Amino acid sequence: MAYIRCTSCNESNPVTSEYQTFCQECNAKLEPNYQSWLLQNPGKTFQEFVQYCERRNTGGHSDVTAHQARTGTHSGAIIYRRQEPMAIAGFVLGLVSIVLVGFITGILAIIFSSLGLQKIKKNPELLAGRGMAIAGLVLGIINVALPVVAILFAVSLLQGFSLFFW
Ligand SMILES: [Zn+2]
Repeated sequence: MAYIRCTSCNESNPVTSEYQTFCQECNAKLEPNYQSWLLQNPGKTFQEFVQYCERRNTGGHSDVTAHQARTGTHSGAIIYRRQEPMAIAGFVLGLVSIVLVGFITGILAIIFSSLGLQKIKKNPELLAGRGMAIAGLVLGIINVALPVVAILFAVSLLQGFSLFFW
């Protein structure tokens, strides 16, 4: 369900129209509303605004911090985006598995990087580390794939190339 929470009376206003600007309960101006959001996100559709509101609504308390982050921009403060720990873990594991050619650490790198990416995707305003998570994912995949290819190659050598050149 997409709704906009009124900052004055805390009423949850269901998103019904692209011209909805005021709280149905206390008539205070709703922030964000589609018209003001459109100014910051030119060319976006009302449907995308509804999805944006739905994303804001999921995950309870992140609503409050997201609001604080936004008011931060208005006063000229820098938004502090937290590095997603799983993205860091995935990246470090990816590096470790490159050095050790580690199959297990490669798998862990894939798991942590994917989880980190999911979290960042859900909360892009608050979480940083997307580049690191992607790097960790790629490193992980390389380290899982390399030993498999190496083993297949070794086996095919032992069997007189029968696996690769039958
Ligand atoms: Zn209100």
